Amino acid sequence: MDLITTTAVYNMHVPMRHIIHSLSDVGFRKLDLAFDYCMKNDFVTNRWEKWVYEVKDYAEEMGVEFVQAHGIGDICRMQYNVEERNLAYRVLSASEILGIKCVVMHPYDTDFSKTVNVEEYVENNARMLAQYLKKCEELGICLAIENLPWSNSAHAEALVQLVERMDSDYVGICWDTGHSYLLGQDVREVEKLGKFMVTMHAHDNFARLMDEHLIPYDGSYDWHQFLLSLKKIDYKGDFSLESHHQTLEARNEEEVIGLLGHMYSVGMSLCEEWKRIKECAI
Ligand SMILES: [Zn+2]
Repeated sequence: MDLITTTAVYNMHVPMRHIIHSLSDVGFRKLDLAFDYCMKNDFVTNRWEKWVYEVKDYAEEMGVEFVQAHGIGDICRMQYNVEERNLAYRVLSASEILGIKCVVMHPYDTDFSKTVNVEEYVENNARMLAQYLKKCEELGICLAIENLPWSNSAHAEALVQLVERMDSDYVGICWDTGHSYLLGQDVREVEKLGKFMVTMHAHDNFARLMDEHLIPYDGSYDWHQFLLSLKKIDYKGDFSLESHHQTLEARNEEEVIGLLGHMYSVGMSLCEEWKRIKECAI
């Protein structure tokens, strides 16, 4: 298990070069490119390919690699909006250039206010995600569907049904610890994913219906139990942080760097704890 962090630790106006530099400086070696935070840079222009190659070259120079990505937007809106759909495909092409093997996408809920029929949810999502899965299969990229804090997308069982329905070696689940915990779900909910869990978005909160995206241990999530649950399902992925709100709210660069350093050491200590848990027979 290696440590990964999202690049969304800075807002959309900060150049990717600066983000890579800061994350590399505090120790991170593996990054998750948040394309949903690239809406203000050349990624959304016809110079996107040049931008991607520059990002790739600079990452290499700084000794870091992109291993994961976050897709953009709402997959339902993408059905009807050609521009957004093209960007969603562009995320996959850019990921291929960067050597990224896992792209996280949000599923879609037909009704945010209530849990609708699970079969309908599974069918709708399988249909809408099929076009992206096809391209993922061609490129050898895993499409990881993320749990969201509402409706069917909040439930491990519904996501498992969706992944089973999509039936491909290139689809899995990204478990977002904070989205699950803010709803008061038990930490062990993750065990229901079994072999389908391919990655995670690790962040903390206080289970009070707020998606705070805090650094682990700055909320009240039980990280030790989380690691024990991962062992139970024989999780083989990395420890991927999406704890980016504190840096986004920081007052100056010095504070950001301090928080990134803290995030790195907490992440590394969780990876160390995972090693001890894995070696332990029970
Ligand atoms: Zn997430």
